[in-house]
Amino acid sequence: MASLYNGKNLTVNKHLIKPAGSIPPTVPKILLFSGLDPSGGAGLQADIQTCSSLGCHALPLLTANTIQNTHNAAEFKAESALWLRKQLSYLLDDIAPDAVKIGAISCSLLAQEIGDFIRTYTGPIIYDPVIKAGGGTTLADTALIDTVKDHILPSCTLITPNAHELSALSNTHDESEGIRNLTKQGCPQILITGGHDSSAQKSNRLYIDSELAHEWRWNKLPGEFRGTGCALSTAITVFLAQKHSLSKSCVEAHRYVERAVANAYAIGSGQLIPDRLSSFHLSKDG
Ligand code: PLP
Repeated sequence: MASLYNGKNLTVNKHLIKPAGSIPPTVPKILLFSGLDPSGGAGLQADIQTCSSLGCHALPLLTANTIQNTHNAAEFKAESALWLRKQLSYLLDDIAPDAVKIGAISCSLLAQEIGDFIRTYTGPIIYDPVIKAGGGTTLADTALIDTVKDHILPSCTLITPNAHELSALSNTHDESEGIRNLTKQGCPQILITGGHDSSAQKSNRLYIDSELAHEWRWNKLPGEFRGTGCALSTAITVFLAQKHSLSKSCVEAHRYVERAVANAYAIGSGQLIPDRLSSFHLSKDG
């Protein structure tokens, strides 16, 4: 499907939903709650790029402003909960999001605001808990973790914690027990990222109703990568918004992140940035 534009062949976005007559086409809209990482490696920038390259439109809502580079997050500052409520309410007066992705939340008040909204929202809701930055800085205190357990987890379609985040949310270091605890708290679909890694291999595991439903294994590439968790969870959200099943969405999202990581580039001397637009370059090249 190529169209001629300014003399160049461009691939038409195959996710465009074209109604009959003169009404303009649309694309799935993804509501994103996350923080700003000025290195552009994680948070909202990673989420927006993932949405755009997979044919969706991002609706970004800022929860935190951070100070970070490719080595670590030095500090973060929570945004105003009242401002977020007003932004959300004005946005929703006009636009109906097709799915919601929640990343870094930053404080308990914001978690309550987001929780109040998602309790009444009926589309897919994906939560990627952000508790520690890659370099080790803590990004969530105990008040936030408690509010997340009560106000966020029970409304989620899927959560995507790593092993450390699972134990913080479930009060145990044992993966099976942690999965059972979160399932009892009303969150039966859980994708664990990493945690059982050997020096050469990594793995992610999807649990549904406390049973292992699918496992992905891959060989570790050299280097450390920023924002892979953000890209994976947002890609799953995008595929769910495009009406794929949960398992198909997870399979496609893993393929997407694998390609982004294989094409990662350096911008500083620390973590590498996965090329989240690599699928976009591919579709443009035909
Ligand atoms: N969200 C924000 C705003 C961040 O600053 C970070 C990392 O520090 C993350 C999410 C987590 O990124 P990753 O996908 O590398 O775990």
